[in-house]
Amino acid sequence: MYDTDNIFAKILRGEVACDIVYEDEKVLFFDDVNPTSKIHILGIPKMEVLDFGDFISKAAPETVNHFFCKSYDIVKEKKINKTGFRIITNSGEHGGQEVPHFHIHIHGGEKLYRGI
Ligand code: AMP
Repeated sequence: MYDTDNIFAKILRGEVACDIVYEDEKVLFFDDVNPTSKIHILGIPKMEVLDFGDFISKAAPETVNHFFCKSYDIVKEKKINKTGFRIITNSGEHGGQEVPHFHIHIHGGEKLYRGI
């Protein structure tokens, strides 16, 4: 069940501040508070969804499309589309997900190394 007290829900309600990169009525992109690459942006939909599977199952196709298209708009705005970037989502315990609100990480701005 979705935990309405998770930190990203608080950010969406305006109870916790964040450095906004992009926001509209459906999505919010903001800087990760503890970046692990030069550019490290998080993207979340404005829906109560736990993880990737929950988002794909519950969101309308146009919402999913909007979310991922906006992600790529941000990649282009940050000018990392040519140098390269990585988009990941951690899901569940084995995926190492810490915050139980679906989110993607956009990494770039420097050479990224492989890791599990
Ligand atoms: P994950 O392990 O995929 O759930 O990633 C959660 C991410 O959220 C981590 O990279 C954290 O650094 C980041 N994070 C946690 N709290 C905040 C916050 N208040 N503002 C921005 N990023 C946060």
